Amino acid sequence: MRAQVVIVGAGPAGLLLGQCLLQSGIDAVILEQRPAQYVLGRVRAGVLESGVVALLERLGAADRLHAEGLVHEGFDIAFAGGRVRIDLAGLTGKTVTVYGQTEITKDLMDARAAAGGNTVYEALDVALHDFEAERPSVSCIKDGKTLTVECDFIAGCDGFHGISRASVPAGAIRNYERVYPFGWMGVLADTQPVSEELIYVSHERGFALCSQRSRTRSRYYVQCPLSEQVDEWPDERFWAELRRRLPADAASALVVGPSIEKSIAPLRSFVAEPLRFGRLFLAGDAAHIVPPTGAKGLNLAASDVHYLAEGLIAFYKNKNSVELENYSARALARVWKAERFSWWMTKLLHRFPEEGDFGRRMQLAELEYISASRAAQTALAENYVGLPY
Ligand SMILES: Cc1cc2nc3c(=O)[nH]c(=O)nc-3n(C[C@H](O)[C@H](O)[C@H](O)COP(=O)(O)OP(=O)(O)OC[C@H]3O[C@@H](n4cnc5c(N)ncnc54)[C@H](O)[C@@H]3O)c2cc1C
Repeated sequence: MRAQVVIVGAGPAGLLLGQCLLQSGIDAVILEQRPAQYVLGRVRAGVLESGVVALLERLGAADRLHAEGLVHEGFDIAFAGGRVRIDLAGLTGKTVTVYGQTEITKDLMDARAAAGGNTVYEALDVALHDFEAERPSVSCIKDGKTLTVECDFIAGCDGFHGISRASVPAGAIRNYERVYPFGWMGVLADTQPVSEELIYVSHERGFALCSQRSRTRSRYYVQCPLSEQVDEWPDERFWAELRRRLPADAASALVVGPSIEKSIAPLRSFVAEPLRFGRLFLAGDAAHIVPPTGAKGLNLAASDVHYLAEGLIAFYKNKNSVELENYSARALARVWKAERFSWWMTKLLHRFPEEGDFGRRMQLAELEYISASRAAQTALAENYVGLPY
C-alpha cells in the first residue's frame, strides 16, 4: 500500500490531522492498534479552548458540538471556605466549551467515514522504518497478515505509550519530565452537575474538581495517593470524600448516583524535543503530557495538528517546506507555555505532602492574591481559555 502520509494512532490528534489532510486532498492512512469501539469508550478530556472549536468548525465536524456542547464563561476556585469566580468572558472576551473527548472522537470518526478516509483499526505490532531517509514506511499486522504502507511522511499521533517516540534513537531526542506524587480518582455519573460551571477546590485534604460532560452527566475528581487502587474507592467512599472537600453549599447540593466509569489517573508533566526526526513528526500526547489540572492535553494535541497540517499542506500544495521545517519550534513554543500553566495550576491547588504547612500557607496567600487582583485573574484566564495559535 502507498499513502502520502501515514498517521499512527486514531486518538484526537490522529483523527484531527487525518481530517485536515483529507479536506486538502492529501492521501493519509491512519493505523490504530485498538478497535474503534475501544477508542470511542475512552473517557478523558472535556474542556475545549476556542481554537479547537474553530478547528472542528473548519473541518465540518462541529454541528453536534454546537448543539450539545456547553459554553462556559467562567469557573470557580474554592479554598478556605470561600470562592473566587474567574470570569473568563469578562477578562478575556473568550469562553471554553464543555464537550466530551468521546463525542469529539465520534464526530471525527463519522466525518472521516463520510469523506472516505482509510483507518485501519486493530493494526498490531506497528513498526516505523527508514524515517531518516527519503522513503519511509510503516508496517503492521492486520488480520494475521503483514501490511506495509510506503509514504512520504509519518505522523506519530500514538499517545504517551506509543511506538513513534520510542522509535527515535535515544541520542536524537531529549525528554523533560516531572512526575507528581499523587493521582486523580475520577468518577463519571449520570447525575445533574453540582454547579453550572466547573469548581476547582484547594482543600486541606487535597484537590477536588467538579466537572461535567453535559447537563445530565457529571465528572468529579479527588486527589488521591498513587498507592491506592480503584477497588479501594467504592462509590460511597468517593462521594463522602468529595463532599468533605467541597464548599458547604456545593456539598449539600451534590447529587450522587452510581458511577458509570471510575479510574485513577497519574499526573505527569513531560515534553520531548524536538518534534521532528527526518520524515517523522510527533504530535499530541506522543510528544508531551500535561497534568489535567489546566485542561490542556487535548487542546495541545489540536494546536500541534494545526501547525503540522499547515506544514504538510504547504508542502504538497505550494511545494514549500518552510513550515514543515518550523513545525517543531512553532508547536513547542506553545507547548511549553501550556506546560508552565498546567504545572502552576497543579502546584497551586494540590496538597504536596513534602511541602508541609509552609507550602500550604504559600498556596493560600497566592489564592487570596488572585481573589483580590484583576491582573492575576486575567493572567490565569488568558492561559485557561488558550493562548493564540
Ligand atoms: C483523566 C484525564 C482528564 C483529561 N482532561 C482533559 C481536559 O479537560 N482537557 C484536555 O484538553 N485534555 C484532557 N486530558 C488529556 C487528553 O485526553 C489527551 O491529551 C488526549 O487524548 C491526547 O490525544 P492524542 O491523540 O495525542 O493521544 P491519545 O488520545 O492517547 O491517542 C493515541 C492513540 O494512539 C493509539 N496507539 C498507541 N500506541 C499505538 C501503536 N503502537 N500503534 C498504533 N496505535 C497506537 C492509541 O490506542 C490511541 O488511540 C485528560 C486526560 C486524562 C487522562
